[in-house]
Amino acid sequence: MQQSKLFDQCKHIGSYKKLVIGQTIQDLGWQLDKDIEQIDNLFEVLDNNPIEMRIDPLFGEHTLHSSLISRERANRPIATRPELPDLVGPDKCPFCAHNIAMKTPVNKRVYHSQPGIVSVSNLYPYIAPHYVTIFKRKHTADFKDLTEKNIQTYLMTGKELSELFKEKEENGIDGMWDFINWGPKSGASQPHAHAQRGGLYPLVVSLMDREREALKRRKQDLHGKDPFEVYISAAKEGKLTIYEDKYVYIFAAYAPRFTNQVDVITKKKNGKVVSNYLELDTVMIRSIAKGVVHVLQGMATELNIANLSIEAHQARFVGDEDYRLHWHIYSRESVIGGMELNDMYAVAAYPEKTAEILRGGI
Ligand SMILES: [Zn+2]
Ligand SMILES: [Zn+2]
Repeated sequence: MQQSKLFDQCKHIGSYKKLVIGQTIQDLGWQLDKDIEQIDNLFEVLDNNPIEMRIDPLFGEHTLHSSLISRERANRPIATRPELPDLVGPDKCPFCAHNIAMKTPVNKRVYHSQPGIVSVSNLYPYIAPHYVTIFKRKHTADFKDLTEKNIQTYLMTGKELSELFKEKEENGIDGMWDFINWGPKSGASQPHAHAQRGGLYPLVVSLMDREREALKRRKQDLHGKDPFEVYISAAKEGKLTIYEDKYVYIFAAYAPRFTNQVDVITKKKNGKVVSNYLELDTVMIRSIAKGVVHVLQGMATELNIANLSIEAHQARFVGDEDYRLHWHIYSRESVIGGMELNDMYAVAAYPEKTAEILRGGI
């Protein structure tokens, strides 16, 4: 069985759990109760296919999901990177500048501080306001072609839209959601690089709200220690680091929901948590963009990934000082395949291996 150092580290933390389900079930420190019986029954059939089960150390006992890492599946040969079909070329692409100029009314556009960069109102909003930000002007259908400048633009426009939404607080908006989907398997409807952002209302509850609540309880368990700090030092011990500098920590998620998942966590700045886009500054933006582009390049060239999602998690505009701005980068090559019963996710690659590959020359 692969033993990761993170496990030992997390045992110190106290509320980390790990099971190994194989020919025998080994209790590796967790008080096994009736849960293990259920899991045992569920995976009896996998007696000869050892599976490692991981619980996200960020949330400890209050975890929102568990991950099954299958050594057997990890040994599968990786398929070659599929060519992305460029469904719509620049002529007809609704996100290319000439078509925006022709088709989107001026009052449906938000112009950003960078020349030519625009967000347009989504024609099919989840809930208004819902914008599509075209953060790269040139028609780009492959995230391998993104530059640091492009990611800086993605981040800066996120900050600018947050500021715009914050002005609408009187309409009840108290936060922002933000994600990028890339490639047909991610559900992206257009090949041109774009991000989606929208206003959040108090009663709209998403994964990031559930994360925030779990983290409050986790902090109590840790006697007031910051769960992000604890997780970062455990991830370093566990050799999950991909990129790090003064402002950002990027690593392979210990208990991923998707194979080759990478998480990007902002560090404290001058001793203060950066909790949402409103608190980002240009120095941090540059730093995050550098790390993210490194990850995207590695995902494309070393891991043959062509479809992914980048999901931002952040605090609401006020009142969540402990929650940090962070991003989950999910590879969307492996489709959710039926193992995700009750938030148990099956992934095919060891995060330690993902980190080693994506660290590359760094
Ligand atoms: Zn285009
Ligand atoms: Zn998150």
